[in-house]
Amino acid sequence: MSSSVALRLPSIDGLLRHPACAPLAERYGRDLLLTGLRQLLDELRPDVLSGQLAAVEIGPEVLAGRVGERLAQQQRSQVRRVFNLTGTVLHTNLGRALLPEEAIEAVQMAARYPLNLEFDLASGKRGDRDDLIEGLIRELTGAEAVTVVNNNAAAVLLTLNSLGARKEGIISRGELIEIGGAFRIPDIMARAGVRLHEVGTTNRTHARDYQAAIGPRSGLIMRVHASNYSIEGFTARVATAELAELAHAHGLPLLEDLGSGSLLDLTRWGLPAEPTVRQALLDGADIVTFSGDKLLGGPQAGLIVGRKELIAKIKKNPLKRALRVDKLTLAALEAVLGLYRDPDRLAERLPSLRLLTRPQADIHAQALRLQPLLADVLGEVWQVSAVEALGMIGSGSQPVARLPSAALCCRPQVSKRWRGRYLLNLEAALRGLPIPVLGRIGDDALWLDLRQLDDEPAWLAQLPQLQVDR
Ligand SMILES: *Cc1c(COP(=O)(O)O)cnc(C)c1O
Repeated sequence: MSSSVALRLPSIDGLLRHPACAPLAERYGRDLLLTGLRQLLDELRPDVLSGQLAAVEIGPEVLAGRVGERLAQQQRSQVRRVFNLTGTVLHTNLGRALLPEEAIEAVQMAARYPLNLEFDLASGKRGDRDDLIEGLIRELTGAEAVTVVNNNAAAVLLTLNSLGARKEGIISRGELIEIGGAFRIPDIMARAGVRLHEVGTTNRTHARDYQAAIGPRSGLIMRVHASNYSIEGFTARVATAELAELAHAHGLPLLEDLGSGSLLDLTRWGLPAEPTVRQALLDGADIVTFSGDKLLGGPQAGLIVGRKELIAKIKKNPLKRALRVDKLTLAALEAVLGLYRDPDRLAERLPSLRLLTRPQADIHAQALRLQPLLADVLGEVWQVSAVEALGMIGSGSQPVARLPSAALCCRPQVSKRWRGRYLLNLEAALRGLPIPVLGRIGDDALWLDLRQLDDEPAWLAQLPQLQVDR
């Protein structure tokens, strides 16, 4: 027979006055605490009525503890730091470039105080936000002028719309690319109001193809960096200098979307060559666009640089106002550009370049150091080894180039049929750590590429919390 004395939940008022709830009220405020307690009691009531809960499970301290956990969970920010051990350095889904200290300080200053965003301190008159970085851009690229927008996609859209609306944009079929699923050159052209005039073929486009396309409706010639794919074998592409000559002979501007675009020759650091902005301008491109958070190593931004009168036209476009950058971005960008004035120390000071150029021997030594510690936590079922691995730059820079790196390679020692599940469980457990660890699964193993493991102490500190489901 059922017991005659039914348990009763504590009252809300009683709980609110209980000392166990006082720190919660202090921390989260009375309203959130009250809502949390109400929800919890509502959830528990059926089990209490049916006698499934013991008295200790509904004591005030226990209930306060449970509400406290929930409130902490709700309070946790959705924007979370992670460890990027995927092997892709400039990972678009993980925020691309990391800012140098100089830029972080500049962002803090810009966030905290009023600043001369659009105010010329010399004349006391209204200024233009692009002027804040124009001097640096001119010095670093040789461009006459610059304007900055939200990202490179915005830079391409704005440039096309400003210089080619209602006219034809001539572009090689080999350059009609898609980036990250949503950015496709033909679509951007259409949205910019430019009629696409594609020339040549996927693998070969010649000067005569462009020549034949030029006519009274032509508005511009565009060239796009192939970014995330490469065409190899029987290929032909017209050099920028030759294309510029052709464009100028017909009074057309040549736009070049460099994508990543580098300000310096990366081969001096042993990295694969990327076209530089300065060279594209020297070759005759009238406008060059590139991202702020790819190889440049700065904040998300799109830089449009080139001839003064064309930049002036772009700045007059009402879309510019819709696509412009904010003060935090400009502050960070100026600080990053400033570092480029001293190339000798750039690789020490710019995190993305420091990580991209980290020697493989260094990374391998780190892998050897960490291997026994991870093996210990994972236990018998997992074989953990320190191995050489190949990473990549990411964000469309040099898609076929590989960065020699080193990784912790975790292989489950179970029959083939269970391997997939073990790997997914390990991946989920790593994602569930206080600072989620992101690796990559491939070849029946989970790989943690250590090129970007800068903060080894924080990584090690949370390792004991790793719990993998079987
Ligand atoms: C990455 C890239 C873009 C887009 O740049 P975002 O800064 O991501 O908007 C456009 N064009 C090319 C060639 C790219 O590589």
